[in-house]
Amino acid sequence: MGGFAKEKRVLIALLPGDGIGPEVVAEARRALAALAIDGLAFEEAPVGGAAYKAAGHPLPPATLDLVKRADAILFGAVGDPDCDSLERHLRPEQAILGLRKELGLFANLRPAKLFAGLEDASALRPDIAAAIDMVIVRELTGDVYFGEKGRRTTSDGRREGYDQMAYAEDEVRRIAIVGFEMAKRRKRIICSVDKANVLESSQLWRDVVGEVATGYPEVTLTHMYVDNAAMQLVRNPGQFDVIVTGNLFGDILSDQASMCAGSIGMLPSASLRDWSGDNGLYEPIHGSAPDIAGQGKANPCGTILSAAMLLRHSLDMEAQAQRIETAVANALAGGARTADLGGTMSTREMGDAVLAALT
Ligand code: NAD
Repeated sequence: MGGFAKEKRVLIALLPGDGIGPEVVAEARRALAALAIDGLAFEEAPVGGAAYKAAGHPLPPATLDLVKRADAILFGAVGDPDCDSLERHLRPEQAILGLRKELGLFANLRPAKLFAGLEDASALRPDIAAAIDMVIVRELTGDVYFGEKGRRTTSDGRREGYDQMAYAEDEVRRIAIVGFEMAKRRKRIICSVDKANVLESSQLWRDVVGEVATGYPEVTLTHMYVDNAAMQLVRNPGQFDVIVTGNLFGDILSDQASMCAGSIGMLPSASLRDWSGDNGLYEPIHGSAPDIAGQGKANPCGTILSAAMLLRHSLDMEAQAQRIETAVANALAGGARTADLGGTMSTREMGDAVLAALT
């Protein structure tokens, strides 16, 4: 990972974006700054609707230049109702697709963990939810979302829409490696999710994941069909530690796992282009939440925990990552709650509670 040497200047690009993005990124920045890491520098640039308003494009050249120079990127959220009538390529959300493409971010990591005290926030029974502590490793740049697609008319005159689902072996191999590297550092079990009983692309997925597994004899691999995985995630989520899966299945399962783990405001994510974490992008899973933007109500924990992932995956600073995660856990254990968690704290007060719990 990272290859971070202490003497080196480490640049973190801050892209706060729209809505609650700036509010939550400010708290994550405070948490990172409180660690007093030598050489850590921040540079900020606009993205999304804010960038469109400032520079006429959701991902302007200056922002792109910054993210390419940076060691890692901390991203808030994009999405602005003022931009709803813009042409599609100028909409704020296009910035995310542009960043993934420009930086080659093909691996999405989504931890889902239920913090002690938040059992009642889960959509599941508290005793079942309490066991949730997993990471979903989702392929991000292939699959049916990027296959040939279109509309056509069948020979008997019916309109038809089609989307080709395909995976090439190198695409599967590189995401499988990320999954196994993750598993190696956790409980050494990994579940690969596919639909190999029906889909040829899934059969190839299963074959290639099996080949990668031979390089990781210390990790136990199991396979599960996606329909069963969706059921098992609500029946017994505690059985999972690392799940590796394709773009479509991962999109659905990671949202499902998130809601099982509690509030959308609590959950971080990472998007990587390889296991080294160079140019990795870290963001909470939520959007810009225009309904509460500017009111100081947003829960900053998902972004603060994204900063912890940044330390772990891009800067190779596991101990510092754990300091932040422990501080969040202790703040929650001490009763700190924003409105989404049933409390009354403001975004800043929640950030203060996390800082106060840093040891
Ligand atoms: P959202 O995640 O912004 O909000 C969904 C609900 O969750 C809202 O009620 C919101 O108030 C609440 N919520 C979200 N984050 C919260 C937090 N940190 N603390 C407390 N409550 C929180 O999803 P949406 O409303 O469907 O989308 C709003 C905008 O965000 C849209 O423009 C959408 O395209 C965009 N979006 C962006 C991203 C991203 O930047 N990665 C992701 C999803 C949606």
